[in-house]
Amino acid sequence: MSESASEIPFIPFFRPSFSNAEEEAVIRVLRSGWLTTGKEALAFEEEFSRFTGSPHSLTVNSASSGLMLAMDAFGVGPGTKILTTPYTFISTATSALHLGAEVAYADIERASYSIDPERVERALKADRSIKAIVPVHVAGNVCDMRAIRTLADRYGVRVIEDSAHSFPSRTADGFAGTLGDAGVFSFYATKTITTGEGGMVTVKDADAADRIRKMRSHGINRTIWDRYTAKGASWKYDVTDAGWKCNLPDLLAVIGRVQLTKADEFFEKRSRIARRLTEAFSRYDFLTTPPDGPGNAWHLYLIRIVPELLDVGRDEFAEELQAKGLGTSMHFIPHFEMTYMKNRYHISRDDFPEAARKYDTSITLPFWPDMTDETVGRVIDVVVETGKRHYKGNGK
Ligand SMILES: *Cc1c(COP(=O)(O)O)cnc(C)c1O
Repeated sequence: MSESASEIPFIPFFRPSFSNAEEEAVIRVLRSGWLTTGKEALAFEEEFSRFTGSPHSLTVNSASSGLMLAMDAFGVGPGTKILTTPYTFISTATSALHLGAEVAYADIERASYSIDPERVERALKADRSIKAIVPVHVAGNVCDMRAIRTLADRYGVRVIEDSAHSFPSRTADGFAGTLGDAGVFSFYATKTITTGEGGMVTVKDADAADRIRKMRSHGINRTIWDRYTAKGASWKYDVTDAGWKCNLPDLLAVIGRVQLTKADEFFEKRSRIARRLTEAFSRYDFLTTPPDGPGNAWHLYLIRIVPELLDVGRDEFAEELQAKGLGTSMHFIPHFEMTYMKNRYHISRDDFPEAARKYDTSITLPFWPDMTDETVGRVIDVVVETGKRHYKGNGK
């Protein structure tokens, strides 16, 4: 007997993994009476530095804030540009706009969602106002950081990694996010470890770290924790710059501390599920499995359809998955599809053929560390079934 649609449990695109440990940690902070940025945030920073081997880690209230702060610390501002791809979340670019800088775009590689080093070199050659390259490790798959580092050194620009997807992507040279001058991680609700909202900036340079620490807190020259708890604590402080308000409260930082202790376990689980999906999907010519370079953190599982072999496009394919109970998403709607960026930079899909091609064919499938084997099996069955049904020439 066939199941009716209402009996099929809906599989969400993501589900966070929490245990009693996070609950107890939040209660502990609530009862402590200190809710905002203090010793929990500091401990989270120290633990994150230890985990990643980064000399400085700074908590922030989002990766978007972190990108802006890191760019600011490396001199991105009026008269300068950052270089990134159109295949990323919008705040990779708007972080630069908020600083009065502009955005230059280079297309992604054919074989992955990563910025193409050849196109990076062309852009750097043509435009001396580029101050920083902002590579994005889409879905956790790490960009060619050796090539990017070499180019950055040759042209005297900074590298700020958008590592929102790439914790913990561990390469032979270290963790993604510690390979450039700065790395920016997100702890948004659907990311590999989460605090609901939050982020971390890792940075090598001590002066840049000081600048970020100050600018995330109104340009004040002392931390709040220090003002209230240091020996000889006092209300005195100075403001030496027009800063912002981008600090991560202890109430959230403590969740991050617990999640960090589970990062390796989450990573193992994600990798195992990704391997199973790839093994199953690679048997079908109408599907393209995601790129998997060294150290992939597997934040997301992005499957691509081969439209030439199917009688439907990506939108219809994804709608059908959704109708059959799979929560799907899209990473990313490229910037040339966004009204604001189209109007500001007069960019279109014709300027970025590789990004356009990925956009036309990618679907983000349900994927999280605690997915059961049965749920993974169901995702595989629904995707394969849908592809087979729309396979051209099978006389359906
Ligand atoms: C999620 C994300 C961001 C922004 O992270 P927030 O913490 O939500 O500000 C930036 N870049 C990429 C690639 C992202 O996926």
